[in-house]
Amino acid sequence: MIVIDLSLGCETRPKINVTWTFPESCFFPYGRDFFELVEQGMLKKILFKNALIVTLNAKEDLIHGDLLVCGEEISAIGVVPPEESEGAQVIDCEGNPIIPGFVQTHIHLCQTLMRNMADDMVLIDWLKQRIWPYEAALDPERLKISSHIGLAELILGGTTAIVDMGTVHHTESIVEAVQRSGIDAVLGKCMMDLGDEVPAPMREKTADSLKESRRLFDVIDGLGEGRLRYGFAPRFAISCTETLLREVSEMAKDIDAFIHTHGSETAFENDFAQSNYGCSNIEFLEKVGMTGEKTIIAHGVHLADNDIDILAKGRTIICHCPSSNLKLASGIANIPLLDSKGVRVSLGADGAPCNNNLDAFIEMRLAALLQKPIHGPTAMPAKRVLKLATIDGAHAIQKGDVLGSLEVGKLASLVVLDLKNDPGAGPGGDIYSRIVYGTHRANVQHVFARGKHLVDNKELVGVDLGQLMAQGREALTKSVETMQKFIS
Ligand SMILES: [Zn+2]
Repeated sequence: MIVIDLSLGCETRPKINVTWTFPESCFFPYGRDFFELVEQGMLKKILFKNALIVTLNAKEDLIHGDLLVCGEEISAIGVVPPEESEGAQVIDCEGNPIIPGFVQTHIHLCQTLMRNMADDMVLIDWLKQRIWPYEAALDPERLKISSHIGLAELILGGTTAIVDMGTVHHTESIVEAVQRSGIDAVLGKCMMDLGDEVPAPMREKTADSLKESRRLFDVIDGLGEGRLRYGFAPRFAISCTETLLREVSEMAKDIDAFIHTHGSETAFENDFAQSNYGCSNIEFLEKVGMTGEKTIIAHGVHLADNDIDILAKGRTIICHCPSSNLKLASGIANIPLLDSKGVRVSLGADGAPCNNNLDAFIEMRLAALLQKPIHGPTAMPAKRVLKLATIDGAHAIQKGDVLGSLEVGKLASLVVLDLKNDPGAGPGGDIYSRIVYGTHRANVQHVFARGKHLVDNKELVGVDLGQLMAQGREALTKSVETMQKFIS
């Protein structure tokens, strides 16, 4: 055990004395010296000079000026008096934009190893022949490597908060990777207790699934001073019994937990609900209590008018996953209609095997473009889409008061883009258009999560990517060998 006593603070925040006690194994997150992390992430002031600050605050202010971070928080925006920024590390943005970190509300870190291994299939075949056998074959170490690779990609692309659905086992591996990454997350173990074609290691007994999920809630929810939250994650109505879904709903309400599931991604889910429960998929989810303002439902492609009314009334969140919906030929979610009916919507990449990227820029561009041939060129303007990927996602995970926009007092989870030197993103024009239509992951210059420097001049801080990808290749080979016995 190692004990550290420190006095934290700066001019704009009072000093507090903190004592940390760590096992030695916790000491080198992502290979970086802990003291350096403390110094950079928790003690240092950082002054971003000469920036275009895309605040996404209530007034949608665009501010040309400086932004000061003190510890984890944004302490000043605009004109920063020299005495406030004295001693700060200075990052000259050279007129480039700073935007809030992306909040992607539907991700599967556990699936990253299977990228490019499950293409050109419909959802049910994709699940039965690839994803379930792969997840059944995962061991804790391979799951951790899969999570690290997914997180590396997300962070390099400016994502600083996610909602993740794990697999049925080894959730601690994902938790460990997310804890080390520095980003915010709602995460949870996948729950599955129904389906003859589900591989044996993935098919749980109802009581076991509930008990394990509740145990994980107790361990995970609130970790890192609230950076990690638990979300109960029944996979979808087709692989969960009505009993499990009802009990999850009750448990989540009792302890005020998130629920994260898939819903109405394909027409087949409505057919299944109709023949088994005599109603649509969303009507069934409402019947078992799986709607509400802490429920995030990925997809929402096949929705009837009454489904939309149910979602709006319950303040349930739909996570729009445009790449995944196109690749699996599921359809196109009618986001302009959901917007007009008052349904809360956010954005997510889903898993690497159904996308095949975890890149918010790709999702934003698609989210804007694919509505236009159907609803006209004014559908889904760039600013609306950027909000989907930031402040709306922050509200979806109930952190709209601390994440999703750049405002004094909010957490410093932010992204500096390098657009000035990219001919494809300029030379000028509307800043929202530049970001949504013309910006890529390669334009991400700096990423900070809660004041911690995660990407520095386009490089992931403290991560040996070459070594991580080599581990990934080895883990993929082992996974492919092991999963064969689970393919029916
Ligand atoms: Zn998914």
